[in-house]
Amino acid sequence: MSLLIHNVTIFRNSPGKKILTNAALAIENDTIVALGSEKDIINKFPSFTRLDGAGRLLMPGLVNAHMHFYSTFARGIAMQGNPKNFSDILEMLWWKLDRILDLDAVYYSALVPAITAVKRGVTSVIDHHASPHAVDGSLDRVEAALSRVGLRASLCYEVSDRDGAGISAAGLAENERYLKKCQAAKSTNPNHLYDGLVGLHASFTLEDSTLEKAASLASSLESGCHIHTLEDAADQRESMRKYNRGVIDRLRHFHILGPKSIAVHCIHLDEKDKDNLAESGSIVVHNPQSNMNNAVGRTDIFGLLDRGVLLGLGTDGMSPDLTPDIRTANLLHKHDLKKSTVAWNEIQTMVLQNNPAIFERVTGQKVGRLEEGALADMILVDYFPPTPLTAENFWGHFLFGIADAEVDTTIINGKIVMQNKVIAGIDEARIAHKAQVVAKRVWEKFMDNK
Ligand SMILES: [Zn+2]
Repeated sequence: MSLLIHNVTIFRNSPGKKILTNAALAIENDTIVALGSEKDIINKFPSFTRLDGAGRLLMPGLVNAHMHFYSTFARGIAMQGNPKNFSDILEMLWWKLDRILDLDAVYYSALVPAITAVKRGVTSVIDHHASPHAVDGSLDRVEAALSRVGLRASLCYEVSDRDGAGISAAGLAENERYLKKCQAAKSTNPNHLYDGLVGLHASFTLEDSTLEKAASLASSLESGCHIHTLEDAADQRESMRKYNRGVIDRLRHFHILGPKSIAVHCIHLDEKDKDNLAESGSIVVHNPQSNMNNAVGRTDIFGLLDRGVLLGLGTDGMSPDLTPDIRTANLLHKHDLKKSTVAWNEIQTMVLQNNPAIFERVTGQKVGRLEEGALADMILVDYFPPTPLTAENFWGHFLFGIADAEVDTTIINGKIVMQNKVIAGIDEARIAHKAQVVAKRVWEKFMDNK
């Protein structure tokens, strides 16, 4: 398909590149082939199908660097009892919920937030999935849901020993099967929408032998691991008690960390842990809303960025939309440190530069920039700047205007997946109704399962 988007203002998100006004951008198949003044681009590509942007802002789609689609059915659920700490929240909500998800629940849990993601301008997601009694084929069901709206993703299954050796082995096998499937698809089409990682829950639910197997699987497939790391202080306590090693030390010892591995949260780190993470070249993802919701603490984003760690931003299942976490990140660190001057540049770097860089490092796909040769993942936003907009002040416009604006059109891999705020072939009310039928069944089991 050849598409020419014209009558737009373009934020390219390429270092040193200015905002383009009265501009146009040309897409051939899944790749951006040109951008520049409207007149030039139209002259150069007269036969391309036109899409009139009506003066809107065209910018790269957002990348959510850590998500749990399966958390959808927790929305409104009645938790029995009163969790006193993070371990209770896992026991009383998340581990109870994931155990009763079947493959239909996995599908609808992913489809509903995938629709929201596209509507809110998220075009790539790195997801972490758990359904311990429906492991085999679960990542195919997540993929099937995302492909209905054309959302790009890196998926993984959360391996854990918390439900026994059989389920742990099934989790490893699911990661292996899915990764091989994606690699086969990418060998013929490198821009295939789906890829995988080796998913792991967290150090405190993983035995040494499982870490060994996961590292060996990741290494044999030239992939990385995606693991929750020091989200709560209990992770460290348990590691010291059972293995006489700290979590970072343990993960490094078993070769779980590395340039393609994502250590999520990394809140309870000492200075040596931060050095260790940086030396291993690992990726770290910060999830401020989730951390505040669970009252587990705050990641030292400054200490990690200063050490050159590739640090990104995710939502950890709090929302498929990244913008609430972007705003929270901007406020949380200022508020906690009682310093209004911090976090502005850091969060901007994490969202605009690092999240696309993380996605590229784990999948090999270049997203998050509007430039020739990049993948055509972009959004047209109902944003008409009321003050001068430049590449230098874009972040101010983003935080206080664009984040509130509606996304009109979403394009992923050169395909229009939403236009005029409508996702073709998706009846949202019908899908929500079907999801409710499945959710009711899941909730009944949740209540019975004391
Ligand atoms: Zn998570």
